[in-house]
Amino acid sequence: MTDTTAHQCAYPEVKVGHDLADGELLKVGDRILVPCPDCGATPRDELDWCTGTIEQTEKAFTRLALDRGMSLYHWSPTKNRGGIIRRGLVPHRRPTTHATPSWRAPYVCFGDTVAWAWALSGAQRSAPAGSWDLWETRMGDLTEPRILPVDDVNGIHEIRTEHRVYKRHLWYVGTRVKS
Ligand SMILES: [Zn+2]
Repeated sequence: MTDTTAHQCAYPEVKVGHDLADGELLKVGDRILVPCPDCGATPRDELDWCTGTIEQTEKAFTRLALDRGMSLYHWSPTKNRGGIIRRGLVPHRRPTTHATPSWRAPYVCFGDTVAWAWALSGAQRSAPAGSWDLWETRMGDLTEPRILPVDDVNGIHEIRTEHRVYKRHLWYVGTRVKS
């Protein structure tokens, strides 16, 4: 791994000329990033380093949230209440917030606060108006939870699980109306 603490790597952008062009990957006029002149690290090295950092952050957050028995929140249109009471929250349902009708989320997602969960769902422009229910669960009740980290606020973007959240682990909090 490259020691990135010693200096801030820079990756100069160069335009591919006839000398570099190979007619396949590199075409004349393409713009590419070349390795850092100071240490020889490539943009690919940096990307790998970032990916590793994100994975470690995810794992650390998940452990911490499990330790604390964190509460999680999910908003769903009230018309889904009957289904949630019968089956719980199930991945691969048609999402309420995406414009593409055929796309199905392979996971169920939660926010760590009520307001943030709302921002991710009901508050979206594409989300339907009308009555929405709020559901609460516990991090420890999710199967294989994953935390998506973000470099903002408390560092948690959302929590996802690819597994069903059973009705016994869901608590109906209340309803609000989106106008
Ligand atoms: Zn460098």
